[in-house]
Amino acid sequence: MHPGISRLFISAAYAAEAADKQLGPITIERRDPTPNDVQIDILFCGVCHSDLHMARNEWGGTVYPVVRGHEILGRAARVGSTLAYSSPDKHTGGWT
Ligand SMILES: [Zn+2]
Repeated sequence: MHPGISRLFISAAYAAEAADKQLGPITIERRDPTPNDVQIDILFCGVCHSDLHMARNEWGGTVYPVVRGHEILGRAARVGSTLAYSSPDKHTGGWT
């Protein structure tokens, strides 16, 4: 359960299940975006060496399954009401 979260949705992701496993497709639960969030429909995603360090637990502390691919480009699907810098349907990117 997710205390304090009223709604969840299912999202596709790529994750490693263990340090010696390759990234593979999974589905994950995400909380509904808050007024401070931008929900992005991801169109492209890069997997860099930092993702591999995390997937292989080379920096320690990795919690599995670990979703990787933190450099993304997509389209803003929803923009939180407190945010003024973007609007829905514009291309946007992020680093998480
Ligand atoms: Zn990176």
